[in-house]
Amino acid sequence: MQLSVDQWQQVQNDLKVQVGHDDYNSWLLPLRPEAPSTSELAQNLITLSVPTSFMQDWVNQNYGDIIQKTLSKTLDKSVNVVYRVAPAFDVKPPKNTSPIKGTILEEAFKPKNISAQTAVDDLHEGTKLDPRFTFETFVTGQSNQFAFAAAQRISESGDLAYNPFFLHGGVGLGKTHLMHSIGWHVLKNHPERKVLYISAEQFLYRFIRALKDKSTLSFKDTFRSVDVLMIDDIQFIAGKGATQEEFFHTFNALVGMGKQIILTADRSPHEMEDIEDRLRSRLGCGLTCEVHPPEVETRLAILQRKADALGFALSEDVAMFLANAISTNVRELEGALNRLAAHAKLTNAEVTISFVQEQLRDLFRSSMRAVTLDEIQKKVADYYSIKIADMHGTRRSRPIARPRQVAMFLAKQLTTKSYPEIGRAFGGRDHTTVMHAVKTIENLTERDPQLAEDVRLLERILSNR
Ligand code: ADP
Ligand code: MG
Repeated sequence: MQLSVDQWQQVQNDLKVQVGHDDYNSWLLPLRPEAPSTSELAQNLITLSVPTSFMQDWVNQNYGDIIQKTLSKTLDKSVNVVYRVAPAFDVKPPKNTSPIKGTILEEAFKPKNISAQTAVDDLHEGTKLDPRFTFETFVTGQSNQFAFAAAQRISESGDLAYNPFFLHGGVGLGKTHLMHSIGWHVLKNHPERKVLYISAEQFLYRFIRALKDKSTLSFKDTFRSVDVLMIDDIQFIAGKGATQEEFFHTFNALVGMGKQIILTADRSPHEMEDIEDRLRSRLGCGLTCEVHPPEVETRLAILQRKADALGFALSEDVAMFLANAISTNVRELEGALNRLAAHAKLTNAEVTISFVQEQLRDLFRSSMRAVTLDEIQKKVADYYSIKIADMHGTRRSRPIARPRQVAMFLAKQLTTKSYPEIGRAFGGRDHTTVMHAVKTIENLTERDPQLAEDVRLLERILSNR
């Protein structure tokens, strides 16, 4: 797959918007597209090099989908992305640059900008509280009332009655919002207290860097000096072996020192796989509560509140339409509203339901297109004329095992499911089995044109349902 300088630039900008400045700098900035071989060209394959194998796994696991989708969108065709560790990253252009003149970036191989280490240096970067996220701007309903009240209780108390406070729930349901609200509230009433907010990803990243720089002591000192430590999305550190272990030692030390710890995750402690039991129980020994998807009244109230803030006149029927169309993620709801407001302002159009349908067509279409793991298993089984049960079963003969791997690969490509979730859907397999399957198919499609063709066809079948 060819990628011009401009296209890569566009992909980078797009990714930055999607993942945020800090995570982008830490993980995605160091990516470099490699010049494609002829077969890669033929197979719509893009190879991105990363500086370390840790980053390879990390980026693949956490940003693989976003990167694949962004590249596909920019190039206007479905591409596959593979990651390759290129430690001698500093300078060497790849061997195979000659045939595609002017498409692959000379720029990209210059040693500037390459080090993630230099990108984020100040501990306070990426740790700012968002002024929009306060208790006042949080709309409550049945789905989040308990979490809201608990968050308020935590922000009022200095007695560490609930430590850690563990907030969990699906994407875009206001966990980060509530966490920041606690931070603002503490700071308002006790300006002298030190509050530190950090995403688990940033925490982990900085921790790894400290290990590498042999500066873990000063890293830990920094955390010792805070009164309230908030770590967002800690599912990111689950299953990270030694790093996770170190992370939880720090965590334990802080709790021992009487620091208030506030954590969020996309699942409850007991649903977190890949962590040791003693750590799991430690996580759950304070107050754990869940934010649920908002019911329709709450969605309507959120819409109304956000529309008011934008100075955007939203009629009841349009609000109802939106609240029904987007039901599981407040961030998406908000995004849709922002887009509508911007379009309406630009075009001066009246905001009717058909206007909404027109403007948000891509959004509705993409939510309709979301393919399920069941469908993937069924179509792949059909395609290879094997039984669906074989997707869950243990038979290891190649005519069965290979399609199963293809299905796992497609599950990773076409859905936002994590490796453990996919493993579970395939008869309770371990996430490493899924990772291995994905790698295997990635590698094989490079060498085996028949398999590459099968995979491509299946992708098409599954996206045009
Ligand atoms: P999470 O951290 O759970 O993925 P966020 O806290 O980032 O979700 O919320 C996503 C967006 O939705 C934010 O802009 C947030 O302000 C908004 N949001 C979520 N829930 C509510 C709510 N109950 N009231 C107001 N805004 C909300
Ligand atoms: Mg969040």
